[in-house]
Amino acid sequence: MYWAKTAQSGLEQYHRAFSEQATYRGNLERSLQSMLARQELWVAYQPVMDLVTRQPVSCEALLRWEHPEYGSVSPDTFIPIAEERGLVQEIGLWVLRAACTDAAGWNRAGRALKVAVNVSAVQLRGAHFAEQVTDILNETGLPPALLELEVTETAVMANMAEATRQLLHLRSIGVSIALDDFGTGYASLELVRELPLNKLKLDRSFMTSAETESRSRLIMSIVIDLANALDLEVVAEGVETGEQHTMLLAWHCPFAQGYFYSRPLSHGAFLDFLNRQ
Ligand code: C2E
Ligand code: CA
Ligand code: CA
Ligand code: CA
Repeated sequence: MYWAKTAQSGLEQYHRAFSEQATYRGNLERSLQSMLARQELWVAYQPVMDLVTRQPVSCEALLRWEHPEYGSVSPDTFIPIAEERGLVQEIGLWVLRAACTDAAGWNRAGRALKVAVNVSAVQLRGAHFAEQVTDILNETGLPPALLELEVTETAVMANMAEATRQLLHLRSIGVSIALDDFGTGYASLELVRELPLNKLKLDRSFMTSAETESRSRLIMSIVIDLANALDLEVVAEGVETGEQHTMLLAWHCPFAQGYFYSRPLSHGAFLDFLNRQ
């Protein structure tokens, strides 16, 4: 009966893991309510590099949550919960204000560097999103040309009409729009045609498979040609090796982002990185 015993304990383990998972999520949901008040959020910055000059040309703001009990919690985990619990508006405005404040500071110090901020589906659906962004730009003194908003296909498709309206408004005041995780959805080309975009960010999954799969390489080089032909900027995401860097150079990809150049850094470490360049 040894097998039966182990099978049972396997099931027990499964139940325990499941209930621990539920408790974890429940605890996260509860502490999400107070994360802003308790100042547990901070913004990391990852440089986006010019492939030819190897100089940083902009950066992406990435949200970080330092949970008192669990330590660092990934935005991939807590943003979906925040969306469900109706907290993502507030968190989204917080990260936008923090990133604009920092970039306005760099600009005043003589370093005009564009900052890209991720936007969730819930924010983009709101009829006042463009106004909220305008208010934060005025409040922080960041020139609109130094702000980029990263939207995903899913976020746009949740309400295409309203999203397009908000993005057109933002473009008209000089804010840039990037389509994030490009190539992972179903309607990528339709969005390239319909949206007021400045930039495509090629999803990391292409880069991951490019070294081993010739089809991925072919798709990537064609997408880069397409972006260049349409006068869209293009950033390859998730560049981790020198070989990938060299491949992108050969394909005339202008910009790249990834651990090969730098991990996302705290504000202080990011300034050190800029000063070393
Ligand atoms: P994303 O917008 O696609 O951001 C890129 C993710 O790839 C980041 O993960 C970044 O740390 C990671 N990354 C960068 N270079 C490399 C690399 O060379 N290799 C690998 N393996 N990973 C790399 P992170 O910071 O964990 O963020 C995950 C996702 O969470 C983001 O994906 C974005 O969808 C979301 N997110 C992050 N910050 C915010 C935010 O402020 N608001 C919203 N709505 N979503 C956010
Ligand atoms: Ca992004
Ligand atoms: Ca991305
Ligand atoms: Ca992503």
